[in-house]
Amino acid sequence: MGEVMEKKGAIKELWKGLQALAWGFSTTFIHLFKKPVTEQYPEQKRSLPHRSRGRIILTRDPDGQERCVACYLCSAVCPVSCISMQSAQRQDGRRYALWFRINFARCIFCGLCEEACPTLAIQLTPDFEMTRRNPMDLLYEKEDLLVEHGGKDKEYNYYRLAGVQVTGPKGSHQGEKPPVDPMSNMP
Ligand code: SF4
Ligand code: SF4
Repeated sequence: MGEVMEKKGAIKELWKGLQALAWGFSTTFIHLFKKPVTEQYPEQKRSLPHRSRGRIILTRDPDGQERCVACYLCSAVCPVSCISMQSAQRQDGRRYALWFRINFARCIFCGLCEEACPTLAIQLTPDFEMTRRNPMDLLYEKEDLLVEHGGKDKEYNYYRLAGVQVTGPKGSHQGEKPPVDPMSNMP
């Protein structure tokens, strides 16, 4: 009697196994006729949204000048402290970064540096192909970061309105109205 029960149990287990096997193969078979969700990277490249965050660049004003004023805001806000620089000043009072470095081995591409930048100098681009074997190659210097264009906002020019020494009298600068004489309001 015990032997019969044992045989029945084994057949039941075998049947269950065959059912699971058939289920697995049928799933594979169905997927043979479906459109694959995977892509053959790097031969097939996915077009990423414009706002996706990848490699960082330092952009220029429309007149070709460096936008970065070395204010250290991006460096201060960076949660992983991967931005470092040294500020300097030109003879006309305009500040710039003597050197500027980003360690992409630490960057988490959060975009906070871009949000903090008052001059729109630092911007993230959709380029994500930055893999290197040697982590030291992920240290980008200013020469590697600086581009010849204005990035996302090409017309913006921080220095047209701010950032330079006030030289002329009040009301004589671009976009500035003449000062109001409060005495003219007297009855
Ligand atoms: S994207 Fe984020 S982690 Fe990368 S440099 Fe900017 S603030 Fe730092
Ligand atoms: S990139 Fe922008 S936030 Fe960073 S130091 Fe230059 S001006 Fe300041």
